Amino acid sequence: MTPAPVSESPLPQEELTREIFGNISPASKLVFYVLAVVSLAVCAYGVWQRVRLWKLGRANPARSGMATALLQFMARVVTQRTVRGRGVASLAHALLFFGFCLLALGSVLVAIEHYAHDLSGRGATDPVFHFGTYYAVFEVTLELAGLALLVGACWFLARRIRSDTSIGHTAADSVILGTLIFLALTGYATEGLRILREDTHQPGFSFVGLLFAKALRGCGIGGTETGPVHLVTWWVHAVGALAFVAALPYTRLLHVVAGGLSVATQEKRLGHLEPVSAEEVEETGRFGVGRVQDFSRRQLLELDACVSCGRCQDVCPAHAAGKPLSPRDIVQDARGALNIVGPLLRAARTAGTDEDDATSEMPQLHGDAVSAEALWACTTCNACNDVCPLGVSPVAMITDMRRHLIGVGELRGAPARSLEKTQRQGNPWGLPKEDRMAWARDLDVPLVTDNPDFDILYWVGCAAAYDAHAQKTARAVVQLLQHAGVNFAVLGSEERCLGECARRMGDEFVFTELAEHNVGTLSSHDVKRIVTHCPHCLNSLRQDYPEVGGNYQVLHHTALLAELQAAGKLPTQDTVNGAVTFHDPCYLGRVQGETEAPRSVLRTMLPDAGALQEPVRRGKETACCGAGGGRMWFDDEAETRVGRDRIDELIGTGAETVVTGCPFCLRMVTDGVAERDDGPAVKDVAELLLEMVRVAREDT
Ligand code: SF4
Ligand code: SF4
Repeated sequence: MTPAPVSESPLPQEELTREIFGNISPASKLVFYVLAVVSLAVCAYGVWQRVRLWKLGRANPARSGMATALLQFMARVVTQRTVRGRGVASLAHALLFFGFCLLALGSVLVAIEHYAHDLSGRGATDPVFHFGTYYAVFEVTLELAGLALLVGACWFLARRIRSDTSIGHTAADSVILGTLIFLALTGYATEGLRILREDTHQPGFSFVGLLFAKALRGCGIGGTETGPVHLVTWWVHAVGALAFVAALPYTRLLHVVAGGLSVATQEKRLGHLEPVSAEEVEETGRFGVGRVQDFSRRQLLELDACVSCGRCQDVCPAHAAGKPLSPRDIVQDARGALNIVGPLLRAARTAGTDEDDATSEMPQLHGDAVSAEALWACTTCNACNDVCPLGVSPVAMITDMRRHLIGVGELRGAPARSLEKTQRQGNPWGLPKEDRMAWARDLDVPLVTDNPDFDILYWVGCAAAYDAHAQKTARAVVQLLQHAGVNFAVLGSEERCLGECARRMGDEFVFTELAEHNVGTLSSHDVKRIVTHCPHCLNSLRQDYPEVGGNYQVLHHTALLAELQAAGKLPTQDTVNGAVTFHDPCYLGRVQGETEAPRSVLRTMLPDAGALQEPVRRGKETACCGAGGGRMWFDDEAETRVGRDRIDELIGTGAETVVTGCPFCLRMVTDGVAERDDGPAVKDVAELLLEMVRVAREDT
């Protein structure tokens, strides 16, 4: 039989509609409903199983409420803000996301219309709301949504076939993408067949479906056989869609739920760590994360949120240096451990039997899933946390697992000795506290006891107290403060290590002991405002100390120096010869977001803007020097040192001077540059500014 032509002639507004479940018999509808209920039940069961696994974790620290989570969800997930910045990949994800959401919403609206229609007892072509302008907008929107889904899924599938190395590939991921493409195509084919079958003179709202209709007609499909073909295609599409919904929590698509929750409830405070209380340790007998169930519930949720995209691995300086650390693998391996021991743990808890006995034969988190070597390779630079689009914090997981290693005495050698010295002597060098002011020889530096009415306390820090190169920074800072007439003081031998490094190495008790002591000292001198040249001290005073009762206004020295220049208390004069480059320290640029102050001070010393040669990775996207998180105390071979690529990058700018604003960066960059012939000079911003002040003095 000759197929009927596909008609595109317009209809009156009230006739703009289509029958829901047209060509589907009551028996088929019933089967569909049963399958839909089964599919949703399987999906809900899968999600519930994961929720039960998340609940194996320890209670979460207090977090913001539902309203904040909802706002955060709208601001970060709905706008796709967290996945921006990756060019075509970000666009493809947005297409997939919006296509998927709109199609899901469309299905829900169709179901509502259908139930409302059945309840109202209207005729087959007398819809409740699915007609007229609403219908036209609905059809066009869903056609576009299908296209978006198709394009996004094809792009991701092509990328997987191209084997982008940073992405964790599994065959299941390709099956998911293939299924999405299949569903989009069978959806259009079903619509095309409906158009052919009904020949309703509808205008081309279903424009893709219309193209399919024309193509099908060109293939000889039409007339009386259209109904059966439509029915078969409809079933193929329906069963595929229901199977997809059922499979959602058992595949990487679980991130739709877990990732959404993770991002909505994330507290994005880079550089912040959850404290461990002595009471908690006493109560549980555990310190840190030794078993997968020692993670918090939120962290277990994060394990399921991770899509193995590899962004964190791409920015990890330890991974780049060839260390056995990949933040992505840490998260995925911990998830693997949860999948293995989780069901056994649940059963043990339900039966009231010993959890450790129940899982003793199973692979363990430490050693089997995650190696100590990988954990100790982390510099806590926070780059992984910053780039993760799903609110996962590998740094917190690593630190929690380090806490366990510290608790069971697994740290040995130089880093362990640095912790012992920090605890015993109040500094990781283990040098006497009486030597703490050696850096200030010949300078008339006021102690808090000599000048109790100081306006600002200069926190010198251990590095500047005991490391020769960092001492130059401290000497420059005090001379600049004196030149500017700032009323300041230092603690001298009363100052002790803040415990920042100990905390990031996982020794919470050494940190707490030091922090409580320091807060007592600072309170006894009524300290309100602090300046420090160390970004690690800056971050610790801002983020760690409020948890032990220390609340201060804390400034990085570059911020204060910029303030003093702006107030005319320090000169501005282009005295620097040759190009300079600025290395943003991780805890200053990325963690504290302070990228402008050091540059503003630098610019006042340069003859023109071109003299500042920026490295490729700068500002919040800076690259790690390799010293953070206790790495400073590990005896690395020069060729395996974290941050070597950063040194190459800084030298590659062609600058004659590398400037930074952190004593640890100063040490690492100086050591790295020293291995090269004719490397650039390495200085702190304050050193360079002091040189300028001296020149300005001589000129007047
Ligand atoms: S932790 Fe985040 S950035 Fe890293 S692989 Fe998982 S989702 Fe991607
Ligand atoms: S904090 Fe830095 S070094 Fe540690 S895992 Fe993350 S990116 Fe790697």
